[in-house]
Amino acid sequence: MEQRIELANNLNVLRFTCTKCGKCCKDPNTFINVTYHDILRLRKGLKLSLEEILEVIGFYTFSKVNIEKFMSQMVYAPIQTEQGLAFIGLLKKQDSRCTFLGEDDTCTIYEHRPAICRTFPFTFLMSEDGKKITNKIGYTKKGIDYCPGIKKTAPIVKKKKIGIKLTTSLAEIASDAKMVESWNKMVENKQIQPKAAKYIASILLMEDKLKEEKSHN
Ligand code: SF4
Ligand code: SF4
Repeated sequence: MEQRIELANNLNVLRFTCTKCGKCCKDPNTFINVTYHDILRLRKGLKLSLEEILEVIGFYTFSKVNIEKFMSQMVYAPIQTEQGLAFIGLLKKQDSRCTFLGEDDTCTIYEHRPAICRTFPFTFLMSEDGKKITNKIGYTKKGIDYCPGIKKTAPIVKKKKIGIKLTTSLAEIASDAKMVESWNKMVENKQIQPKAAKYIASILLMEDKLKEEKSHN
């Protein structure tokens, strides 16, 4: 832990190599958020039907008090569902293991894993007042807490490469927030029923329509 803190304090050189310990995939306090981009990649990569997607996705609801606390910490937006506001993430088993974590603690969908898994344990750091995301890259708090891949003997990580991944991830989170906002507005205006499954279906439908339009052009 001390070694990780020391590394985290020196942002000039970032060191990391995944030891494939699986800690980040089974941490009870970690939530594996997915954007609609992640859902579409899972659909394509694993050739999943709507029903199969719903089997691996969880809708995480919180009490009103807790959701306010979570909202201030989360960069992902929650959707209106039949159970209230819910964050969308990969399903976790009773023992907190991600549904895609294999028996040997390795990811069974590595090529298609969500953006949040691709960028861990890195993040763009926040400004000192905690209000803005800066362009400085550092380790996430959870990474420093428990990721054994952050160590002095690990190879130096190319900041440019991580920066591209983080920038892409932020752009996807922003476009996901717009999609969520429009869904929540339609629910508020009583144009649609707040059904979680329907939200996922609408994402798939949107992609199918876009594909169809492209094929006609
Ligand atoms: S905790 Fe770190 S080393 Fe372990 S699997 Fe996750 S990223 Fe890799
Ligand atoms: S999708 Fe793979 S990398 Fe991401 S939490 Fe699940 S098992 Fe871990």
